[in-house]
Amino acid sequence: MEGVKYKLFRTALETLYFSGAHLMLRPLLGGVGTILTLHHVRPARRDRFQPNRLLEVTPSYFERVIRRLRRSGAQLVSIDEVYRRLKERDFRGRFVSVTFDDGYRDTLEFAYPILKNYEVPFTVYVATSFPDRVGELWWLALEAVIAQNELIGLRFDGRDRWFECRDVHEKRAVYDQIYWWLRQLDTEDELRHIVRELATRHRVDMAAFCADLCMSWQELSSLAADPLVTIGAHTVNHPILSKVSEKAVRSELENSRSVIEAALGARPEHLAYPVGDNTAAGPREFKIAAELGFKTAVTTRPGVVFRQHAKHLTALPRISLNGNFQRPRYAKVLISGAATGLWNRFRPISAA
Ligand SMILES: [Zn+2]
Repeated sequence: MEGVKYKLFRTALETLYFSGAHLMLRPLLGGVGTILTLHHVRPARRDRFQPNRLLEVTPSYFERVIRRLRRSGAQLVSIDEVYRRLKERDFRGRFVSVTFDDGYRDTLEFAYPILKNYEVPFTVYVATSFPDRVGELWWLALEAVIAQNELIGLRFDGRDRWFECRDVHEKRAVYDQIYWWLRQLDTEDELRHIVRELATRHRVDMAAFCADLCMSWQELSSLAADPLVTIGAHTVNHPILSKVSEKAVRSELENSRSVIEAALGARPEHLAYPVGDNTAAGPREFKIAAELGFKTAVTTRPGVVFRQHAKHLTALPRISLNGNFQRPRYAKVLISGAATGLWNRFRPISAA
C-alpha cells in the first residue's frame, strides 16, 4: 500500500474505532460474512528491513482474533459452507471463513494448532510449484537481494541501473521502487526474467525459498487429513494471471487442480487468484474460473461478502489480517466491514 493511502486508511480505522461509527455502520456494511486472508503466521522477526511484513501476523495476535471471533457469535465456517450459504441464500447468521494463501509451513506449525484448539475450519490455497520445489517466490528473492547488498545492479527500462541500498531507509525505498516497477510490466515473463537475473547476479538462491518456507506434499497431506481443512487451488506457478495469455490462465488453473488431486487425492473446488488485487485478476479470470467449474474463487480485493455475491462466486472479496495493523481494535473494525466499506467508497460489489 503506498504511503498516503496507507496513512489515510489508518486514520480512517482510528476514527471509526474511537467514534464507534463502525457499530452504527454495521447493518449497512457488515454484509453477510467475511472471508479472511492470511499468509504467514509466525513469531515477529527483529530485522528492520521487512518490506513483506504486511503479509505476516504473530501467533498471539492471530489467537486473539480467533478468540474474539468465537466470542462474537460469528459462525466460523469452511469455504464450502460459504458457497452453500450464498447458493441457497441462507443468511441467518453472519459467517467468517479463514483462508491462507500459498501453503507456508508456518500455517501448519503456528496457525493450525490455534485453529484446531478452537475447532475452526480453514482453507489453504496451494500454488503447486511450491511443494514441487520449483516455484519462484520472487518478492522474497527481491527482498533478500536488497537485504544482503549495499549496491544492486539491474536492467531497468532497457538500461543498466544501480541502486544504493546501504541503510534501512534506502532499502525500503529501493524495494518499493523496484517492486512496483516490476508489477507494472506488461508480462509475467518479463518480471520473472528480471528477478531471475537479479538473483543470479547477487547469488540469491531463488529455489531455496520453497524448501525453507513452504510445506512439502507430505506436510500438506497430513494437514489435508483433518476434516477442518480444505485444500484450494492457487495456480501452478503463482503468476499474475492478468499478465499471461488466456491459454496460460486456463492451464495454470486446470493443471494446479490435477496436480493437487494426484498428490492429495481430492480435486480442489475452490480457487484463490495469485496476488489477487484488481490489477492481477479481473473479469477474464472470473469467467474462466467459473467455466472450469470452481465453486468459489477469492480475490484480495478488500471487502466483506454481500448477498449479491451469490451472482459473483468467482469474484469474492476478502479482508486481509495485515501485519501492519496488528492491534486488536483494528481487527474488530475490519471484521465489522466498516473500514473496507470506506475503502471501497461504499460500493458493495467490486467485480469489474
Ligand atoms: Zn499467493
